[in-house]
Amino acid sequence: MKTKEYIELEEHYGAHNYHPLDVVLTRGEGVWVYDVDGRRYLDCLSAYSAVNQGHVHPKILAAMQEQAKKITLTSRAFRNDQLALFYKELSDLTGYEMSLPMNSGAEAVETALKLARKWAYQVKGVPRYEAEIITCAGNFHGRTITTISFSTEPLYRDDFGPFTPGFITVPYGDASAVEKAINPNTAAIILEPIQGEGGVIVPPAGYLSRVASFCKKNNVLLIADEIQTGLGRTGKLFACQHEDVRPDVTVIGKALSGGFYPVSAVLADRALLGLFTPGEHGSTFGGNPLAAAIARAALKVIVEEKLVESAAQVGEYFIEQLSEIPSPHVKEVRGKGLLIGVELKHESGGARRFCEALQDKGILAKETHEHVIRFAPPLVIDKETIDWALPRIREVLNSH
Ligand SMILES: *Cc1c(COP(=O)(O)O)cnc(C)c1O
Repeated sequence: MKTKEYIELEEHYGAHNYHPLDVVLTRGEGVWVYDVDGRRYLDCLSAYSAVNQGHVHPKILAAMQEQAKKITLTSRAFRNDQLALFYKELSDLTGYEMSLPMNSGAEAVETALKLARKWAYQVKGVPRYEAEIITCAGNFHGRTITTISFSTEPLYRDDFGPFTPGFITVPYGDASAVEKAINPNTAAIILEPIQGEGGVIVPPAGYLSRVASFCKKNNVLLIADEIQTGLGRTGKLFACQHEDVRPDVTVIGKALSGGFYPVSAVLADRALLGLFTPGEHGSTFGGNPLAAAIARAALKVIVEEKLVESAAQVGEYFIEQLSEIPSPHVKEVRGKGLLIGVELKHESGGARRFCEALQDKGILAKETHEHVIRFAPPLVIDKETIDWALPRIREVLNSH
């Protein structure tokens, strides 16, 4: 079958909850993906940063195949010989004492919110069901009813109420607004250290550290959603480390499996994660041996291949080169490491047509928030490949 036929089938039988580029991929290797008509593209989205390790990384693939032959799912009613090692290795790498495995990112966010509420009632002494959690305008934390309840994006939210109560919104990047919003019932603030889906919004320097100190001062938990920014994407293992901030709770997902399988986790110390007791929370697939084996291999690749350091170096070069492109359309180039947003002027007619033009040149990128092109290739990308992409990007940003 050819591209057109796949698209027709998909449009006919599938719900239209995405607006993908018209490219049908069939194979991936490292930073490259191939479509059903044999064309090759540089992947500049990395499945929203889930394939930081590159497509079909051979070591993660081997771990997956080996584990799949042995046992894939035990449920948490029994123990398995992968989960314990996954816990230990995740703790060694991140410095958090404990973790709780889930599958999708949204589930891990929900888990962190449940944990914060329980902590508020059991430890902080907030009257039952009066806990408040502060969220930021422009956030993206997933698509469940609760996570869209505090979304400020009408498209994600408007037709889906009634909403989960207990959340308030403050502007993103404004630490004083957080301080003002804190009251005795505040359990936590949840934020992204850089807003990915919001359009690669980098908050002002000092924001995270100021928020962290307000949290500490007022006995409020800081929850960092590092599902997109974490595991090396921004040139640090966690983006919060750019400001030496260690949140009480860090949520990870996406690249935790290198794109092979949905694996997410909530990271925190014993004083917090120790609050969950048997039966209070769970997931049939969460922490299954296949997921744990894949995640162990995916984490090992990040360390062994020095992907964090590489993202910092190559990312700096990429941002610098993109910033130097003389284009009538570009308003701003921003980002950290290999999480880069090119914001176009609003009169340029939206980022979509630029993404389509990039596709014609063999580069897959996706618009986010209408006017921003996100460049977030797998972290295994090298300078030579960036140099291959730059003239193509230059041409598209200049000639349309
Ligand atoms: C992708 C993402 C999520 C949701 O993850 P899913 O696996 O799609 O549920 C949550 N938060 C952030 C910051 C994300 O980028």
